[in-house]
Amino acid sequence: MTKPAPKEWILGISPYVPGKAAADDGRPLIKLSANENPLGTGEAARAALLAATADLATYPDPGAAKMREAIAAAHGLDPARVIYGTGSDELLHIAASAYAGPGDEVLYVHYGFSVYDIAARRVGATPVIAPDKDYATDVDALLACVTEKTKVVFLANPNNPTGTMTPREEIARLHAALRPDILFVLDQAYAEYLDANEDDGGLELAKSAANVLVTRTFSKIYGLAAERIGWGYASAEIIDALHRIRAPFNVTTAGQAAAIAAMKDQAWVEASRSHNRQWRQWLADEVASLSNHGLRAVPSKANFLLILFDGKLTAEAAMKGLWDEGFATRWLPGQGLPNGLRITIGTEEQVRAVAAKLRAMAEAA
Ligand code: PMP
Repeated sequence: MTKPAPKEWILGISPYVPGKAAADDGRPLIKLSANENPLGTGEAARAALLAATADLATYPDPGAAKMREAIAAAHGLDPARVIYGTGSDELLHIAASAYAGPGDEVLYVHYGFSVYDIAARRVGATPVIAPDKDYATDVDALLACVTEKTKVVFLANPNNPTGTMTPREEIARLHAALRPDILFVLDQAYAEYLDANEDDGGLELAKSAANVLVTRTFSKIYGLAAERIGWGYASAEIIDALHRIRAPFNVTTAGQAAAIAAMKDQAWVEASRSHNRQWRQWLADEVASLSNHGLRAVPSKANFLLILFDGKLTAEAAMKGLWDEGFATRWLPGQGLPNGLRITIGTEEQVRAVAAKLRAMAEAA
């Protein structure tokens, strides 16, 4: 019997694997597996969100005007060139859809964010993976992978799952060396965790360059992952192309209201940033003290640490041992890191409990 057949490239896609909230046997766990804000959502954002649920029968503002204006004002941008998505994931997908198709190549760095592979394959394009340099971006290796078929380059900065940062000068050098007809998508999902002097210059670049799209999210430091709100900034031409294919009403009324309030509540953002800075460093130091057991943390600028297990204690055993303490973390065999465990920086209590368990397991192995 004939039946509908998905495009052959669709069946080549491995579905996105979300960070788990339970052990394999179903035990519910504290989630340190999806890089959410362990402090939660600020009160102002929560109050704005709840107030915005008064009218559920009307579609949201399709142009998200107030949210765009708030984002533009906070970053010194042109509101007409701010686009929004159902999470920044939607923006990554529509960027690939608008600029790549069958026969084209979409390029990113080894250990890049897993959605880039899906975004490329779902439009029939070929993902090309450039070699990394000790888990970080190697700009020369990336440039060496550019061919005449390359249409889109994705780079997350800081990167997920490694947490590594490509410095401002390297971003500028990469952009300057890329052909101007290649769309350079700079994915800044974790940018708010950086100190001001660590900014990679992406938004400045997007203000003037004709081929740069910067994406951001409210899912991480703003504590609004449940609302699925991302935004992006690019030239008027790129924004026009993306608007043509984004889903209509792609950001909810409550999400728009919460995002505006969250941006105004910079005290919450600063508290989240400084908490993360302190406890990321603390956990990194703890892992460093276990180096004689083969543990090492990749230097991170994000709200998580990638820990590599190259001694008797394996990453898989560590993940399972942490289940017993009540924590879900992210083991990454599917991303070429069978020795890697990504752990979101939790509350002080959570980080201390994770470190104590890692120490106990490493010493007993
Ligand atoms: N980019 C990177 C690098 C991420 O880690 C994530 C979240 N996992 C996203 C984009 C997507 O986030 P969201 O769709 O929630 O905005």
